Amino acid sequence: MTKCEKCGQDTSKGYDCEHTKFEEYCKECYTELHYYITELKNNE
Ligand SMILES: [Zn+2]
Ligand SMILES: [Zn+2]
Repeated sequence: MTKCEKCGQDTSKGYDCEHTKFEEYCKECYTELHYYITELKNNE
């Protein structure tokens, strides 16, 4: 089990990338983070 660095929930699989500062996020937080990143890019 991995603990999500954002919401603190245990998740079976952690996701990380440069946007999470390479900390492991659960799928929900990871998806939400990229959703906002995509929205910001679209608004530029
Ligand atoms: Zn989370
Ligand atoms: Zn990313």
